[in-house]
Amino acid sequence: MHFQTNGTKESITKLVSDLNDAKLEADVDVVVAPPFVYIDQVKNSLTDRIEIAAQNSWVGKGGAFTGEISVEQLKDIGCKWVVLGHSERRHVIGEDDQFIGKKAAYALSEGLGVIACIGEQLQEREAGKTFDVCFQQLKAYADAIPSWDNVVIAYEPVWAIGTGKVATPEQAQEVHAALRDWLKNNVSADVATKTRIIYGGSVNGSNCAELAKQEDIDGFLVGGASLKGPEFATIVNSVT
Ligand code: 13P
Repeated sequence: MHFQTNGTKESITKLVSDLNDAKLEADVDVVVAPPFVYIDQVKNSLTDRIEIAAQNSWVGKGGAFTGEISVEQLKDIGCKWVVLGHSERRHVIGEDDQFIGKKAAYALSEGLGVIACIGEQLQEREAGKTFDVCFQQLKAYADAIPSWDNVVIAYEPVWAIGTGKVATPEQAQEVHAALRDWLKNNVSADVATKTRIIYGGSVNGSNCAELAKQEDIDGFLVGGASLKGPEFATIVNSVT
């Protein structure tokens, strides 16, 4: 789950309390990604059952990079994961595939797990380029990282993020299966089998069950619905 740039000390206190009270299935890994400034608050109040991710990290060792947050600092405050390549980083901030690949490689080399986001924009889907775009973004990660052991791929069609327009289970499954196939053909059969591919984009308590049933959907990256603790628990528990 992923708070994006939402929350206040007060609202996050309430969310953490809801999460601490939630009955979450034991065999689902749950990771929460608060904005940087609230990571410490969340880390200090959230059950150890849930791990913490950052929403971004600097591409290399810290130093004179004003406004950036280094991987070393994230580890220092207890993060185990970082979300990289989110569509807002790509399309609003302007990060490119190679830069994101380098960030992933650096975070992995320092022992953070990476939630590696990819996904096509609406005009790319309409032009029949969904697979091309996703494969190109996936290749940039593959070219940069030495191992997929600590990587989760998040497929997030940009047109579905925060829009209420969820991909249908068939649309999502089609892309997830293609991504797994790409890994099989370009990395290894073992990596294709073991790498978790999660879906993000307007997932909520009502649509999660059908999505979770799809063979190649291994979990979710949840934005808006993660701001509602009880609904988030429904989403977590739909992944079995
Ligand atoms: P929504 O679940 O609000 O569509 O956000 C998805 C997202 O970007 C999570 O990273």
